Formats: sequence, C-alpha cells, structure tokens
Amino acid sequence: MMKSLIALLPFVSLALGSTRPFLSHRQANVSSTSVNPVGVESGARCACKKLVTSYSDLVLLPGSANYTAQTIYYWDVRSDMDPGCIFLPKTADQVCNAVEIFTTCDAQFAVRGGGHMNYPGSNNIEGGVLLAFNNMNDYKVHNDTIDVSPGMTWYDVYSALDPYGRAAIGGRLKTIGVPGLTLIGGVSYFINKYGFAMDNVVSYDVVLGNGTQVIANATSHPDLFWALKGGANNFGIVTKFTLKTYSMPHISTTIQEFNESGVYDFLKATCDWVVGDSETTIAAGSVLDISYNVTTGEMSPMLLGVQEGISNPPSMFKNFTAIPGTYKINNVTTAKQWASNLDSPKQMFRVMFAHHSMYPDPDVLYSMYQTWKSAIDQIADVEGLYPTMVFNIAPASAAKVAQTNGVGNVWGLAGEPLIWWQFSTGWSNAKDDLRVESTIRQLTEHLHGLNKANGLAREFVYMGDAGEWQDPFAGFPGENVQRMREIRADYDPRGTFSRLNWGGFKLGF
Ligand SMILES: Cc1cc2nc3c(=O)[nH]c(=O)nc-3n(C[C@H](O)[C@H](O)[C@H](O)COP(=O)(O)OP(=O)(O)OC[C@H]3O[C@@H](n4cnc5c(N)ncnc54)[C@H](O)[C@@H]3O)c2cc1C
Repeated sequence: MMKSLIALLPFVSLALGSTRPFLSHRQANVSSTSVNPVGVESGARCACKKLVTSYSDLVLLPGSANYTAQTIYYWDVRSDMDPGCIFLPKTADQVCNAVEIFTTCDAQFAVRGGGHMNYPGSNNIEGGVLLAFNNMNDYKVHNDTIDVSPGMTWYDVYSALDPYGRAAIGGRLKTIGVPGLTLIGGVSYFINKYGFAMDNVVSYDVVLGNGTQVIANATSHPDLFWALKGGANNFGIVTKFTLKTYSMPHISTTIQEFNESGVYDFLKATCDWVVGDSETTIAAGSVLDISYNVTTGEMSPMLLGVQEGISNPPSMFKNFTAIPGTYKINNVTTAKQWASNLDSPKQMFRVMFAHHSMYPDPDVLYSMYQTWKSAIDQIADVEGLYPTMVFNIAPASAAKVAQTNGVGNVWGLAGEPLIWWQFSTGWSNAKDDLRVESTIRQLTEHLHGLNKANGLAREFVYMGDAGEWQDPFAGFPGENVQRMREIRADYDPRGTFSRLNWGGFKLGF
C-alpha cells in the first residue's frame, strides 16, 4: 500500500527502470587531454595515469563494468557522462593527493556525492576526472552530534541514529546525498524549529585547492565555516561533516492526497501553513506538490507531513486534514522507517527543475497553477512527460535560526515566510530536451515577472530547486557574495574550484 502511494510522489518512482542503452559502450572523450610544448602530458590523461599509479584499485577506466555502473549513478539521466576515469577515494588523505594531482596536471574534474543534483555537468564531467565518494561511508555517533562521511545518504544517517532515538536535520527522501544537500542549504522536515541542514553543521573537514586539509568550525577558520553554510562547492571538498542531532524517538506522519477540486483549498492550506508556522515549538515540515497525469488529465495535490512527537494525526497539518481527500494515512514511526519508503532511484528520467520565491498568496498561487496547467497541455504529447508543481515552505522561524545562532549563513534571509515554488518536469527522450526545457524556463520566468509586478516576488533562489540557467548567488545579499569571493580568494588562490572543478552553482567573478 505504502509503496503504491509513494509512487505518486513528485520525485519518487519505484516503477521506472535504470536502463541506458545509448550510453553503455561509449568511449571516453579524451579531448580534454593535451600535451604541452615540452611533451609532458597534462589534463585528464595525466591525472588518470598518476591516479592509477598510486591507487590502481581505486580508479575505474572506461570499458569496465564498474566504470559503466558509476556513469549511471545519477538521478537525472541528463547527468550521465563519460569521464576519462573515475577515482573512488577511501580517505581524506587520498582526496588531498587527488587534488594535488588535478592541479599538477591542470586536469578538469567533477565531484559527486549522492548524485542527485540534476543537470548535465552539475556533478559529472565528459572526459575529465570524476571523484566520487561511494567508498567513504564511515560515521561516528557522539552524544549530540554525528560525524558523517560524504558517501552517505540521508537514509544512512537516519539509520545510524535510529538506535539512539535521535535524528539529524537533513533530506526528506531516502537516497539524496549528504554532501550536496548540506553544502547548498538543506530543507528538512524540521526547518521551522532547527533551521536548514547547513545551520546544523558544527564542523567541516575540508580539502583545499592546494591539497591541504583544514577543519572549519566556530573557532578554526570561522570565515570558511560561514562560507560553507550555503556556499556550495566553491571553497573545497568536504570529507567530513559533523552534524547536530536531536532527540526524536518518534515522528508523526501523514500522507494525504486530494482531488483536483481540492486544489484551491490545498494552496490556501499551504499558505496558511507557512505564514502561521513562525511561533511554533513543534518541529514540522512537509513535501507539498501537485502532479499532473497527462494521460488522464487529472491533477493530484499531495501532502507528506511530518512532525516530531506522537500526536496522531499530526496537529501541525490540521488545515490539510480538514480538506476532503482521496486518502489520508497517519502513522507514528521513526525517521529511519519513514525515509525507508521514500526512494528516488537513480536514472529516474530526464528531469529539469525551475523555481522562484514569493510571499504566500493563495489566489496568485492558484492562478500560477492554472497557467502551468495550460502550458503543460501544450507539451502533453512529449513521451514520458511527468510534470509536478512543488511548494517548498520556508517559514520565518527557519531563517531566525541563523539570525540568532551567532554564525549565520550566506543566504541572509530576511525572516519573512516564503514559498519556494518549483516545477519539476520529467520526460523520456533526449530529442525533447530543448522543447521541454525552453517551455518550462519561459513559463517560470513569466510567472516570476508577474509576481514582480504584483509585489509578491522575492529574488531568493534555492540551489536545490533551481534550473541550470538560474543564478542563486544573485539572490543572496550583495555583501555576502562579496565576502564569499574574498574568502574564496584566501582559501583557493589557485582557483582550483573555479577553474578546474566543474559543476554545481559556481560563485562567478
Ligand atoms: C529527488 C530529489 C529530492 C530532493 N529533496 C530535497 C530535500 O528534501 N531537501 C533539500 O534541501 N534538497 C532536496 N533536493 C535537492 C538536493 O539537495 C540537491 O540535489 C543536492 O545537491 C543533492 O546532494 P547530493 O550529494 O546527492 O548531490 P551531488 O549531485 O552528488 O552533488 C551536488 C553538488 O555538490 C558537489 N559536491 C558533492 N559532494 C561534495 C563534497 N564532499 N565537497 C564539495 N562538493 C561536493 C558536487 O560536485 C555537485 O556540484 C532533492 C533533489 C532531488 C533530485
């Protein structure tokens, strides 16, 4: 029962396979390899050779089955590429050595954690070196923190903490990676009380662009500590996160689906939830979306609601519970058990995100929803089309955590309730890429433009919800961006992470 319900979720499907016939035997593109005037190899070929010499058992080369398996370790099929080689370090020292090799060889490289960031090149590279963290999964549980390695998923973290009745502040689905989500911010089920995932990191072990290691925390390299809170992969490679944990032996959950006739009430409840959630002491959060079945033409609003404790049904979602729905399933469970049902498998589909922020207004949201529906109708013939409109809520209380914890983060959110509205659009075939991507991009910017005119638009863009063309840094306070650039210049004067490291959202110049 649970599995069939979960298959309806925006990002989650148990039904789609992971075949990628068109990529299975491609040769690596070696065009990034070059030979300098004195005949010394540089680029990816140089780096791959050196890595093989030092770590032959940790390097995968094109042609091996293990290499092929790694090239499809991505949620978005569009992210599949063919690196010149793949390095799977086991220790932070090996990551240091690899970075040294990349800079010595002047080799382009990409870094991958859980492989969920979705756009080509965000976490992968054609012909360069891919450093992937599949072999780094150690963790250590302390009284009120956990040390986490960058190969772990959030399910791994919740599983590690389960015997202690504790939880960390992290991703809402099972297989999202810890490093990517934590470095870009991190929306959890408990943001109203504990802030974002980044606000709950007490220490980072970081490999810098010169191949040395530092620890960044409140007393050691505090400037880098701040910059890593939302600054993404612009400063170094994180080899260990120390995360706060909280006593959470039980959580109360609800899964609710509604008919299309309930869309307005659903949007109203969403706005009331984010606006009214500023003074609560109960940690709670949600996944809220409307998905469109292009075959039946039906819209299905859905809520996944979670709160700490055992109140059943969860009290924080009473506005949704009051709306007649097609089903409502309430449960008291654990964070591990809940996450275990929420898989987002690799190779799910081709998929693009697109998003902007706004002050909550149900009438405007409803009109945006109608415009989205009309736009989707125009591309309904695209094979495998899987359109979803998502509403991530960012209550004022979430921003207050960084405002009052003495550290802050790079976002500098003002502390007003926001809805991060997002389109997540999946489809099957590469031939439709441009059509789907341009339709959704135009629609997104059109709606944001209307919201600018009516005063509801906000310029904050979350990297976890953004499309590849968007610039999240443009929505951060200018002084924070300036400070991040100065910190980057101090910690990465060679430009390893701006010149050689591809992917993610780069700070720019
Ligand atoms: C199905 C789905 C559900 C999602 N749900 C949520 C959610 O609940 N909450 C939320 O906030 N976001 C969510 N997101 C967005 C998600 O947080 C980002 O996609 C995030 O980047 C995923 O982390 P990852 O480790 O899997 O990413 P990857 O794709 O592996 O990496 C993302 C970026 O981080 C860089 N990186 C990875 N590891 C390191 C490292 N150790 N050091 C430095 N840089 C590194 C990579 O180079 C890449 O640029 C979701 C995304 C998807 C697709």
